Amino acid sequence: MTILKITKLLFSFTLIILFSCTKKNPTYDLVIFNGRVIDPETGLDAIRNIGVTGKQISIISVDSLTGIKYIDATGFVVAPGFIDLHAHGQTNVENSYQAYDGVTTALELEIGVDTLAAFLKARKGKALLNFGASACQLAIRNKIISGTSTPHKNIYNELNIPAIKEAVNPIKFDAVRALLKVSLAQGAIGIGVPVGYQSGATISEIFDVYAFAAEENTPIFSHIREGGAIAFQQALANALINNSTLHICHLNSMARKDVRICLEMVEQAKKNGFKISTEIYPYTAGNTEISSAIFDAGWQERLGCTYEDLQWVETGERLTQENFENYRKTGGSVIIHMMKPKWIEQCLQSSATAIASDGGEYSPFGHPRGAGTFARVLGKYVRELKVLTLNEALYKMTYLPAKTLEPFVPSMKKRGRIQEDCFADIVIFKAEKIIDKATFKRGFQKSEGVKHLLINGQILIKNAKLLPEVFPGEAITSK
Ligand SMILES: [Zn+2]
Repeated sequence: MTILKITKLLFSFTLIILFSCTKKNPTYDLVIFNGRVIDPETGLDAIRNIGVTGKQISIISVDSLTGIKYIDATGFVVAPGFIDLHAHGQTNVENSYQAYDGVTTALELEIGVDTLAAFLKARKGKALLNFGASACQLAIRNKIISGTSTPHKNIYNELNIPAIKEAVNPIKFDAVRALLKVSLAQGAIGIGVPVGYQSGATISEIFDVYAFAAEENTPIFSHIREGGAIAFQQALANALINNSTLHICHLNSMARKDVRICLEMVEQAKKNGFKISTEIYPYTAGNTEISSAIFDAGWQERLGCTYEDLQWVETGERLTQENFENYRKTGGSVIIHMMKPKWIEQCLQSSATAIASDGGEYSPFGHPRGAGTFARVLGKYVRELKVLTLNEALYKMTYLPAKTLEPFVPSMKKRGRIQEDCFADIVIFKAEKIIDKATFKRGFQKSEGVKHLLINGQILIKNAKLLPEVFPGEAITSK
């Protein structure tokens, strides 16, 4: 070795020593250490340490990290928080149940919100979970038909006012478009098109909404018409002809006995590059408003069930023809036992299905899906029945819904993932313990097994307890 080479080497060593002396290990706001970190996009499934700074994940490392606060995740799964595309319960009452179920983002996309700007303003800084909604085509078309600009008291009114049985006159399609545009400009995530509730809506009225959505490059979330496979073909035709993006809500309860062919249609459409997605909830019963068009004449044949399959939410009782007819006049929430366990398993095994709760507003005997959807998939269907793997289930709850929204919702590029620079929406749970506790008999009950929950870097659930006076939820919009 020449003198020159030795000098160069010594110089490099000196630099390394100097550099390592001046570079201090950064201190993170929070360090989650020694957890089994699962990221469905990259396929990471390994023991890692995570450093969180502010709202973001700063680092994921095998090395130990220094933090101001620590969470010991030894023996726990550390996954992206669950993204629920279909949550009608949009107050902190429902949010508290959803949080124990591992949900960090709960969106009302099937029906949407009529007064979006007011909704977003009212929730800002006060929400437990991330929130957002679609434009409410239901309310808008009802307004145009009835000629009133007053918002209805609540969504249940929208489902049984006379306008629902009428069609929008084609000369008024532009008026519907104009109001949808206002909502989209306020940050609505796509358009909710619950056509199944709009018995008067014509083919051309709905076709025009699909055409409009494509022009605006915004997605449609639809509770499609009744009829199983044929209704799927109608919705898919509307989307494919117009080149619109379509998300079909709760495939399980729309397809029922046609579940195999409906899954195939969605899977094939996706494979062929069409912008089609879907979701399911892991229960064999649906839930809706008894006075709605769902129960118009012929419902037994359409739904494949009868009076005793209906459960009155207020009391938990099963119905007879007599009290069905009485309740139909007064209105109220009813659970419909109409699906076979096998259909739910088929839905869970499809790569096309996201998990979404369709959970309703809190009521003591409300449908358990509002509280237990995600823990039920992980506890009953992954651990007990082995219908799908843990990683497959997490994909359906995190990355798949984020990916579905990503082209229209910028922040979704950084959610549904455990990666550096992503939002620290994180659920830490015990895979051997997580389970739903809500049932059709007991109604809303908190799920068990979620140890910690972080939203935008803030801890909302710590040691299985929801912290008071913490409101980390942020608006999720198309902006
Ligand atoms: Zn629905």
